[in-house]
Parts: sequence; C-alpha cells; structure tokens
Amino acid sequence: MRIVFIGPPGAGKGTQCKRLTEYLSIPHLSTGEMLRSTRSDSAIGKLVGSFIECGRLVPDYLVMPILTKRLAEPDCADGCLLDGFPRTVNQARELDAFLLEQGHQLDLVLHLEADSQELVARLLKRAEIENRADDTAETIAARLQVFETETAPVLDYYLGRGIVERIDAVQTPDQVFSAIRRAVDSRRK
Ligand code: AMP
Repeated sequence: MRIVFIGPPGAGKGTQCKRLTEYLSIPHLSTGEMLRSTRSDSAIGKLVGSFIECGRLVPDYLVMPILTKRLAEPDCADGCLLDGFPRTVNQARELDAFLLEQGHQLDLVLHLEADSQELVARLLKRAEIENRADDTAETIAARLQVFETETAPVLDYYLGRGIVERIDAVQTPDQVFSAIRRAVDSRRK
C-alpha cells in the first residue's frame, strides 16, 4: 500500500508511522527527517536548515529529488508510508506523476486532525525532550500557519478520489492507531 499522512505539526504523524511501518512491513519515509539529515556543513544543508529553522517549507527543487530518489529504491516496491509529504498541491501533483510513471497510485490519505491549542501544547512538550530547532513558540506558530495555507489544500486535491480518511488525533496514541488500522484494513487488497 502507498499511504500518505497529512496533519499539522504535532498531530502525531511520526509516532503513528512508526507503528504502521511495523504493522504493514513497508518503509516509513519522512521528508522532515531526510531534510534534517542533509549534511549541515554543505551548502545545500545550510540552505535547507535555514528554511526549517524559520518554519517555512523547503522549496520543491530541493525536496523532490531527495524524495523521488528514495521512492525509487527497491524496498519501496511494495509500498511505503509518506510522512510529511506532500505538503503542497504542487508536490501532490508531482507525486502522482512519479507514481503513474511507475504504474502505481496512492491507496490512502490519512488526515490526522487536532485543534491548534492541543498541537501547540504537544510541540512545546516535545521541545523539552527532543531539542528540535523548529520547536520554538514562534516557529510553531509559523508552521501551523504554513499548514493551513499550503498543506490543507492538498486534502481538497485528494478529496474527489475517495481515498481520504479523517482520523481524530486528539486521543491516546493507542486509540489513534486503532482508528488508523481500521482505515488501513478496510482498504487492503
Ligand atoms: P516535519 O519533520 O515533517 O515536521 O518537517 C520539519 C520541517 O522540514 C518542515 O517545517 C519543513 O521546513 C521541512 N519539510 C518537511 N517536509 C517537507 C516537504 N514535503 N516540503 C517542504 N518542506 C518540508
């Protein structure tokens, strides 16, 4: 299966992907992690870091080659989980084109929903534990705004296809995972 996770920062995409990757035995591709791991002493790494640190999206010309190279690797032949991608309608279009070329398509889009008060509280808590450069109050606000303006329209892009499942992310991680598993199982071939 090819599954996309869409949700604002703090909705639990990473946590749930880690569980689903085990359940389905398909790789978990996080563009955030891929971008954070670009070498910080390289010119591209510095550029990427400058976008991440202020909560802005990294431009497509930097994101797309990293993602498509990873998607073309053999372990993605039977499917994958996309965490944090696509984040714009343009990325969604490019993903469709790439998958079509390979004779594939998306099976499911999981929309993790949570209110912004809950998200801010979770992200500030994560900041204490993980020390991520983009988990500051100011950057969190910017990232939530970017989600509303740039990423929420991706849901409309997929809506007509009947592949979007809404998941209430303001539950315990176990409850969220049960909801995800139900959505996945109902679509497994
Ligand atoms: P995440 O780990 O998914 O919360 O992503 C952290 C940051 O990485 C985001 O705020 C963006 O700056 C950048 N990023 C991750 N995925 C993408 C993407 N698909 N397109 C552009 N920027 C991205």
